[in-house]
Amino acid sequence: MVLGAGCVVSAADSGWMADALCAETDPDAFHPERANPDGAARRVCQRCDVQAACLAYALATGQSEGVWGGTSPAQRRRMRLAKVVHR
Ligand code: SF4
Repeated sequence: MVLGAGCVVSAADSGWMADALCAETDPDAFHPERANPDGAARRVCQRCDVQAACLAYALATGQSEGVWGGTSPAQRRRMRLAKVVHR
């Protein structure tokens, strides 16, 4: 399966990926060079039933490119830093 961020993942990664809305849309919208959190990709994520699981996966696996769970790479970097600071 190819998710929005252009990452190819195996079926063993997690069950939530089967419900990824971006798999049914234009993957170009999720490419890093176009990863605008206010753009088309974010609108798709807002309608996706697995947004929370997707974001949790991206944070847990350190996805540094593309839109995951409605967030840009910069937003996820800030989330990871905030988590480190608050430990
Ligand atoms: S939240 Fe966005 S990037 Fe994640 S699976 Fe859903 S549509 Fe794809």
